[in-house]
This record gives sequence, structure tokens and C-alpha cells, in this order.
Amino acid sequence: MPRMNVKTVLISGVGIGGPTLAFWLRAAGFEPTLIERAPGLRAGGFVIDFWGLGYDLAERMGLANDIERVGYHMRELRIVDERGERVAGFGTTVFHELTGGRFVTLGRSDLSRLLFEKIRGGTEVIFGDEILCLPQHADRVQVQFKHGNERSFDLVIGADGLHSSVRRLVFGSQDRFEKQLGYMVAAFEVRGYRPRDEDVYVIHSEPGRMLGRFALRDDRTLFLFVFAADVDRSPTMLDLPMQKALLRKMFGDGKWERARILGELSSTQALYFDRVSQVKMETWWRGRVALVGDAAFCVSLMAGQGSALAMTSAYVLAGELAKAIGRHEEAFGNYEMRLRAYISSKQKGAESFSTAFAPKTRWGLFLRNQVIKACAIPGLARLTFGRDIVDTLQLPDYGWSAIAT
Ligand SMILES: Cc1cc2nc3c(=O)[nH]c(=O)nc-3n(C[C@H](O)[C@H](O)[C@H](O)COP(=O)(O)OP(=O)(O)OC[C@H]3O[C@@H](n4cnc5c(N)ncnc54)[C@H](O)[C@@H]3O)c2cc1C
Repeated sequence: MPRMNVKTVLISGVGIGGPTLAFWLRAAGFEPTLIERAPGLRAGGFVIDFWGLGYDLAERMGLANDIERVGYHMRELRIVDERGERVAGFGTTVFHELTGGRFVTLGRSDLSRLLFEKIRGGTEVIFGDEILCLPQHADRVQVQFKHGNERSFDLVIGADGLHSSVRRLVFGSQDRFEKQLGYMVAAFEVRGYRPRDEDVYVIHSEPGRMLGRFALRDDRTLFLFVFAADVDRSPTMLDLPMQKALLRKMFGDGKWERARILGELSSTQALYFDRVSQVKMETWWRGRVALVGDAAFCVSLMAGQGSALAMTSAYVLAGELAKAIGRHEEAFGNYEMRLRAYISSKQKGAESFSTAFAPKTRWGLFLRNQVIKACAIPGLARLTFGRDIVDTLQLPDYGWSAIAT
């Protein structure tokens, strides 16, 4: 490999994009260091549907068997009324058909753990710390950490999610880039909940509110809340009791299984709670600092592909850095050029889908259910989902095909 004058890369965030980037950077001969604000890998969050580029990358990283082992093959999406009776829904075989069987539903934390295990051992990882400031110099970035250390790195990458600190420190405050889609999302997990419907995603909706559950292995159940809200205060400013109080206010009318689910909420300490937002930036890099995943271009949960896109951006960034032999400006420019149009189309799709996901009016809800009913008709489901499921981007080949093995 030709000599590179750029070697050390600090990556902020050990979620999905962070460990993926570390994996590919290491493969290309760089020395990545990961830093994560939380004291350990973050658990919690809902399940994600995983296919296309994300699946391809997991395969290239040698994770195909693992994701099939820890994942689920959802059979049905079922919408129920307040008595729990099915009012609409469809079988999900269409997703398997469209992807040639390469479609799996995964716990977000399971994916994060599998990616982390791939880099554990050979990569420096610092938990429980974060970047306070990162002044850039001609030949390095001088990083000041919260817990006192100061170190210099050739490059710094923000993989620190929707509320990225690297983005704030280098590009400006969150509100300049965040576009709220008008919903909040919350998720948590319990053991022993009844009823269970294996491999079925069960949803109950009212105008502007949606509550779903999904049965996991080991007698666990995941719950997902999505509700319409114009929240100016950052949810990260709300503490856990305030987040729970807001969910009780929104879902406390006792319909369907809500009373039981809110009962379970009382004892959870691990609640994922956030705004449903997108991040839109004119550029994803400045000088020696770049962003990947949600930090750069969060597409929101409405796209159903945030994790795969975080992985894809990490892979492309590492590949371009390797190709440019560390000439970071050339690599960052190519990274952005390759992905921007693709990401914009995903953001547009997610924005239009958001109104269908948790419609705010009874009429909207009715229409949504009609569309879902229509998806039970063979052929129509393919037509409805085909465009969003089949990826228009091909993963660039950086000559790394043999790395997984
Ligand atoms: C706990 C959790 C649960 C989630 N649950 C869902 C869900 O149910 N549904 C959904 O659609 N999306 C969820 N997401 C978001 C989803 O995982 C991301 O959209 C997607 O995976 C993109 O990955 P990413 O690596 O860019 O960001 P993320 O997966 O969000 O990872 C970012 C990482 O950066 C860390 N971090 C944040 N700030 C700092 C800092 N200042 N310094 C260092 N590290 C920092 C975070 O703790 C996190 O580990 C969740 C994210 C998290 C962190």
C-alpha cells in the first residue's frame, strides 16, 4: 500500500456508523480511535428492517450468519382496532420477494453490538468521554476531551447521531440543520408481556398517535410509540420522568392495550425517546472533519433505513480515504458526491411517508388503512414498495471483497 500522510482518525460515536467506519478504516490501513459519550454500548431502541445496501455490507463484514441468527423474519404487519381485532394489514412476503430473501428485522442494539464486536480488540475505544473542542490546524486536529486529555489526530469524524456534537462544534447549532417532521418517537422493551404475536408487527393507531408491539426472543416484547407533536424543547432536555409523563398524556386513554403498556413503562429505565427529524446540510465536511450517518444526513425513522445508510456512508468514506491515499479533501469531496443525490431521494421519500405512518386525521387514517388493505392484493404490494425497497445505488468496489474472510 502506498504511504499515507494521514493515519490517525478519531471517530465520535459508537452506534451504527462509528464501528462500521472503524472496521473499514482499519482494513485500509488507518488507525481509528472511537470515542463514545455513554459509559458502554447503548442498548434500547426498536427493531429495524434491514435489507439492500445494509445487508450487502453486513455480508461483506462477515456478519451475514449473525444477522440471520439474531434477526427475525416478520410475517405480517397487522393494524388492529381498540378491541384488538384486525382492521387492515398485509403479509410481508413481498419484501422477501423484492430482495431475494435478503431482508431481516433486527434489534437496533443487536446490530450495534455485532458491528462493535467486529472491531473490538484491535481498535482503541474510549467510553464515557466526549469531544469538547477540536481546533483544526494545517496538519492535524487538536482534540480536547471532556475528561481532561488533549490529543491530536489527522482527521475527526462525527458519527454521533441526530444530536451530533461534532456537527455543532464545527458547523453550528442543531437548529440550523434539523428539520422536524412533527412527530416524536419512543421505544422500550419488557419481559413477560402478554399477548404475544410471533413475527407480527401489531399496530394500533388513532389520529396523530400510533402504538405498536413486536415480540422478541426470550419472552421479551418491544413497544414503539409515535405521536404528532411540535416540540421546540429538545427531548434530550426532558428527563426520564418527564418523557414518561408525556407518553402517559398522549396514550393514557386506556384504548387497546395502552393501559397495560403504560403500566410496563413505569418500571423501565431504558427508554429511547427522540424527535422524528431529518438533518439537511449543504456540506458534510469542513477541513479535516467530516460527518457520517445521522450526524450528516439523518433520514429519520420514516425512511426505515437509517442504519443501513449510516453503514453505507461509513463504508464509502473509508473507501474514498483509502483510494485517495489519505488526501482527505479529495476523499471527503468524492464521498459526498457519491452519496448526496441518493440520500436526498431517501429524505424526500421519508418526508412523504411520514404523513402515512401516523396520520393526523381520521380521514388520513382511513386512507392509510385502505392503502394497506390494497397491499394484500398480489402485484399491488410490489408496486407500492418496489421503488423504495430496491436500491438505486451500487456499493462502490474498493477492492475489499475478501476482507470478511
Ligand atoms: C439508543 C438508541 C436507540 C435508537 N432507537 C431507534 C429506534 O427505535 N428507531 C429508529 O428509527 N432509530 C433509532 N435510533 C437511531 C438509529 O439508530 C440511527 O438512525 C441509525 O442507526 C444511524 O446510526 P448512526 O450511527 O448515525 O447514529 P446512532 O446509532 O444514533 O449512534 C450515535 C452514537 O453516538 C453517541 N453519541 C452521541 N453524542 C455523542 C457525543 N457527544 N460524543 C460521543 N458519542 C456521542 C450516541 O450515544 C450513539 O451511541 C436509535 C439510536 C440510539 C442511540
